[in-house]
Amino acid sequence: MTKLNSNSGCSKCGGVKVKPWKELSEDEKTIARRLPDANMLTTSELKHLSFCVRCWNVSPADDPRLA
Ligand SMILES: [Zn+2]
Repeated sequence: MTKLNSNSGCSKCGGVKVKPWKELSEDEKTIARRLPDANMLTTSELKHLSFCVRCWNVSPADDPRLA
């Protein structure tokens, strides 16, 4: 349970609920689509991003499991 993961946590607010696009709920996806960093992107591009559900910071989803 204490496995270190440098990709976990938000670089902006430190929140731990940073989710890749595919793990967002429908409500969260609606919010994410309106973000300035995301509203120009296609769905396939959004799949390459992670979203902090606390402050809505957007970061690249570089987790290889998502590739
Ligand atoms: Zn955050």
